[in-house]
Amino acid sequence: MKRVYLDSAATTMVSGEVLQEMMPYFTTIYGNSSSLHSFGREAVAGVDEARDIIAKTIGAKSNEVFFTCGGTEANNWAIRGVAYANISKGKHIITSQIEHHSVLDTCKQLEKEGFKVTYLPVDADGMVSIPDLLHEINPSTTLVSIIAVNNEVGTIQNIKAISEIAKFYGAYFHIDAVQALPAFKLDVDALGVDLMSISSHKIHGPKGAGALYIKNKVKINKFMVGGEQEMNKRGGTVNVPAVVGFGKAVELNDRELAIKEKKMFEISSYFIKKLEYEIPDIKFNGNPYQKALSIVSVTFNGIEGERLITMLDMKGIACSTGSACASGSLEKSHVLAAMGLTDAEVRGTIRFSFDIDITRDDIDYTVRVLANEVANLRKESPLKIKKRS
Ligand SMILES: *Cc1c(COP(=O)(O)O)cnc(C)c1O
Repeated sequence: MKRVYLDSAATTMVSGEVLQEMMPYFTTIYGNSSSLHSFGREAVAGVDEARDIIAKTIGAKSNEVFFTCGGTEANNWAIRGVAYANISKGKHIITSQIEHHSVLDTCKQLEKEGFKVTYLPVDADGMVSIPDLLHEINPSTTLVSIIAVNNEVGTIQNIKAISEIAKFYGAYFHIDAVQALPAFKLDVDALGVDLMSISSHKIHGPKGAGALYIKNKVKINKFMVGGEQEMNKRGGTVNVPAVVGFGKAVELNDRELAIKEKKMFEISSYFIKKLEYEIPDIKFNGNPYQKALSIVSVTFNGIEGERLITMLDMKGIACSTGSACASGSLEKSHVLAAMGLTDAEVRGTIRFSFDIDITRDDIDYTVRVLANEVANLRKESPLKIKKRS
């Protein structure tokens, strides 16, 4: 059976080149990067090289890149670390209603610990409200944390504008750039960010590796105590093979970004046009003028998204209802709800996310199956049956 993977926003395959780069660090180069002997030095060299590649790619200095176990840890660290290190300025944090759970849950926890958190609303396209930000930010705000590219709908925020406002009030600005890394060229200075989270497994690197960019002089506490690793900011033996693979993945991602952007433009417009032509009563979510083209969120009216996903899965097509993390649970998408979709619309929404190896043939197959399954599900929909009788 044909298999089509349309869930690259959930995770990606480790590329051959990345795996090859990692292999020696599982076998011959097995030293602990904290050890003082030659085995340790060899491991350090691999870690340092990965750090240099990532720093250079995002326009940072090498001593501003800290390895973590992924995007989730980087987000936890950025928010908790800044919140607690800057209590003397205030206890107010600003984020948005459409963040990844690793940001939202960290903020909810901080509220329980006595911090005040503002969750900025978004418009129907998923754009964070700048007037609300201006209204809420104040001298006690220590951090503004915003998702650069939303993982469910792909909307890209006005990062530079938010950065200017945060700077004016002396608040640090953090972005969750996990989905931005595979979408466009990141430059920390051009974006005006103080902290930035990235992850390896969304760009064909191994799972369990990520990084937090922390601009020099940012006041931030340690997240993990228990060792002097990562310039004494993050304890724990470094996952050397994963970090080395992450570095290689960043290098390859950067190299093919321009080609990928072109391909995503072509493929997503082809997919959208075909869907519009083949399937009635659907709508697309996200800001059409400012989004990661690799993410296409579609609402199929009168359909249960989870059922549709199961039907597609039986035909070898992999996609998801919002985020991978939310789709395992029964909780409905907070992102789509914040954008004003009704409960029924939220339930009928599916995310397709593409990667560079996608073909027109894959799209043709997917749309053909979708048109069939959607028509079948709509025929048996209890809503429709009720209307007819
Ligand atoms: C995947 C993802 C994360 C979490 O990264 P992990 O490395 O899986 O912990 C955080 N934010 C966004 C936007 C993501 O898509």
